[in-house]
Amino acid sequence: MSQTTLTPVLTARWDQSDAFTRRNYEKAGGYKALRRALQRKPEDIVEIVKDSGLRGRGGAGFPTGMKWSFIPKDSPKPTYLVVNADESEPGTCKDIPLMMADPHVLVEGVIITSYAIGAKHAFIYVRGEVLHVFRRVLNAVAEAYEAGYLGQDILGSGVDLDVVVHAGAGAYICGEETALLDSLEGRRGQPRLKPPFPAVAGLYASPTVINNVETIASVPSIISGGAEWFRGMGSEKSPGYGIFSLSGHVTKPGQYEAPLGITLRELLDMAGGIRAGHELKFWTPGGSSTPVLTAEHLDIPLDFEGMAGAGSLLGTRALQIFDDTTCVVRATERWIEFYKHESCGKCTPCREGFWWMVQILERLEKGDGTEADLDKLLDMSDNIAGRSFCALADGGVAPVVSTIQHFRDEYIAHFEHGGCPFDPAASTLFA
Ligand code: NAD
Repeated sequence: MSQTTLTPVLTARWDQSDAFTRRNYEKAGGYKALRRALQRKPEDIVEIVKDSGLRGRGGAGFPTGMKWSFIPKDSPKPTYLVVNADESEPGTCKDIPLMMADPHVLVEGVIITSYAIGAKHAFIYVRGEVLHVFRRVLNAVAEAYEAGYLGQDILGSGVDLDVVVHAGAGAYICGEETALLDSLEGRRGQPRLKPPFPAVAGLYASPTVINNVETIASVPSIISGGAEWFRGMGSEKSPGYGIFSLSGHVTKPGQYEAPLGITLRELLDMAGGIRAGHELKFWTPGGSSTPVLTAEHLDIPLDFEGMAGAGSLLGTRALQIFDDTTCVVRATERWIEFYKHESCGKCTPCREGFWWMVQILERLEKGDGTEADLDKLLDMSDNIAGRSFCALADGGVAPVVSTIQHFRDEYIAHFEHGGCPFDPAASTLFA
C-alpha cells in the first residue's frame, strides 16, 4: 500500500511566504474542516480519527483515536487538551518548522480535537529555546480569537474553547508528557509514575489528552479527506504520511513528507544521496533514542513494524545520517553527554548511570579503554533501561547498545590503535 510519493499535505505551504497568516490559511481552505467537524457529533470525530488509524507522531505511535476515547465520559472534572510542542529529541526538527510555516493548521487541529474530547481549555506547551516559534503560535491563536474560531460560542455553534500558549524553560525532560504536566502546573518538570495515564489523571489531576504537534496538525486533513483517504497511504498498521527530517552527511538535509513505510534508500534519493565521495555508515530512524541501523537496513520500511523488526524504533522519524568518516565511539559519547546533561535526576540509575557512561566512553575514545569496558557499558545499559520512571533512560542507552552491537570492532580498534583512528576534521559533524 505504501507509495513513495505523496502530494504534500502538512508541508504543502512551507515554501510560501506569509503562509502563516490566518488570511492565507483561509485562502488555502483553512478552517473548513472545523466548520465541517462542528456539524458532526463529538463522538463521530473520535470515530473518524480511530478509523483513520492515525498513530501518535511524537515518537511512540500510540493510536490517537483510542487515546481520545480513554477520556472518562462521566468525570466531574474538566477535560483538557495539551499539545506537546516541546520538540527536543536530537535530530528531530519537524514540529518547529511546522509551527513556523503553518501554525493555523495546528490551531485548527486543537479546536477540532478539543471539540471531540469535550475540552474547554487547551494548552500548547512550546519548547523554551524557540522564542520565535512561541511568538508565531501566540499570534496565530490571537488571530483565531479575532475570527471567532476561539473563545465563546465558536462560529455560532455553542462550543467554547480557550487556548493558552505556554513557553517551557529549556529542559529535554519536559517533553516527557508527565514532566510536561508538572512544568505546566508550575513545578519542576519531573516524570510521574504511570499509571494513572494522563487520560485519567493528567493536568490538575483531570482527564487530559496529550498529543504531539504533528498528530494534532494531521486532524484537519483527516476530517476533510476522510478516514479511508488517510488509510490509503502508508502501511497497514502504520497508515498515513509523516514528516521525515534528514540531517547529517546528506546532500540536501531537510524535511521530507512521505507515506509511512517509505525506506531510507527512497528518502536518500529525494535528498540527493550521501555527500559526494562517501558511503553510508550508520543512521538513526528516529533520533538518538532509537537504536542505530546500518547500510544493511536501507530497504526496511520506515514504519512502526518495520523498524521494530530491524531491532530499532520509528520514533520521531529524525534520520541522522553518518558517513564513513564518522567515529561511532565519538558519536555515541556525544549522545550520552546529552542524556547525562538532560537527566532530570529523579531516578538514580539514569542520573548516575549516564554520568559513569560518559567517563567510560571518553576513556574508550582516547584509546585508554579495554574490552572489559564494553561489557561494563552493556551491563550498565541493562541496569538503566526499564529501571527509571520514564523513557529517557531507555532511549539514552539505545546508542550504546546498538553501536556496540554493530561496531564492536571499531571500539576495539580504539584501544588497539591507542586512540581514535578517525580524522576528526573529516567528519565535519563534531565542532
Ligand atoms: P509511551 O509508549 O509510554 O506512551 C505513548 C502515549 O500513549 C502516551 O501519551 C501515553 O500516555 C499513552 N498511553 C500508553 N499506554 C496507555 C494506556 N494503557 N492507557 C492510556 N494511555 C496510554 O511513550 P512515551 O514515554 O510517552 O514516549 C516515548 C517516545 O517519545 C519515544 O518513542 C521517543 O521516540 C519519543 N520522544 C520524542 C521526543 C520529541 O522531541 N518529539 C523526545 C524524546 C522522546
